[in-house]
Amino acid sequence: MTNRIPIASPVRTAAIVNRYFVHAKKNLGQNFLVDLDAVQGIVRAAGIEPGDQVVEVGPGIGSLTEQLLLAGGKVAAYEVDQSLPEILANELPEKVDGQDLDQRFKLIMKDVLKADFATDLAGFFDLSKPVKVVANLPYYITTPIIFNLLESSLDFTSLTLMMQKEVAERLAAQPGSKAYGPLSIAVQTQMSVDLALEVGHASFMPQPKVDSAVVVLTPLEKPADVGDRKQFNRVVKLCFAQRRKTLANNLKTLLPNKEDREKLLADLDLDPRQRPEQLAISDFIRISRAVAEMNK
Ligand code: SAM
Repeated sequence: MTNRIPIASPVRTAAIVNRYFVHAKKNLGQNFLVDLDAVQGIVRAAGIEPGDQVVEVGPGIGSLTEQLLLAGGKVAAYEVDQSLPEILANELPEKVDGQDLDQRFKLIMKDVLKADFATDLAGFFDLSKPVKVVANLPYYITTPIIFNLLESSLDFTSLTLMMQKEVAERLAAQPGSKAYGPLSIAVQTQMSVDLALEVGHASFMPQPKVDSAVVVLTPLEKPADVGDRKQFNRVVKLCFAQRRKTLANNLKTLLPNKEDREKLLADLDLDPRQRPEQLAISDFIRISRAVAEMNK
């Protein structure tokens, strides 16, 4: 089998699966991309250019990794499946742009949720320069991965992530929509969210039951000043605890005293009958600040 047939194709993936007796592991969220158009769509959405430093989460058998390398990226990839290092070493191109693979690709066999980027990437990346994160995520840990990256010290210019379409919609959701909630708000206070492309079941092997979408998250030049972020996220979560109930009702946990609730809503000029999904992000910031003041 020549390396010229991309790994992101049904024929090459089937050959790899047969050669190494690969069983896609459901518990690790393994759905391999076999659609070159979709993979190249991800690479384009990430705007990968020669020399870019790319952190990939979960290279699998290398479908996306290969195209990131061919686009000129230098790729460090986190993986947990111990059967994959041998496959990646054999199946990724031996040379990329005249360089040996190990100059362009580093496999880090570690749970990405336990990543220590400064240590893991030292010596391979120039960490004074930014990196891009690109991944077809293991869907079962999509939100922990996003929050870990946001809280990490990694200086990234963008996160281009394939995920379950429903989660992508929640990330991008605006007030008034069903998908709008704590996840939309936590992320949109720090990042701009663009839905780049949708990808159907048929692009994967095995095919997932859910539809997928690729989202590009870019750090805002001026993240919203939410005060204590943990406190802010907690307030937002509690405001959405019962999505169908009114704001006044949901505030009961935060402010058990009725007078406090009425005062807060009056001070902020908010209608107590509104549902949480009708409030703008700026309203939640004001609520969080006011609750912190009242609980001082
Ligand atoms: N990138 C490949 C592709 O597009 O075909 C595989 C994507 S597959 C959806 C997700 C990958 O993430 C799998 O290879 C899986 O083993 C890996 N993975 C699962 N949990 C992980 C974790 N905690 N840290 C790093 N990788 C993980």
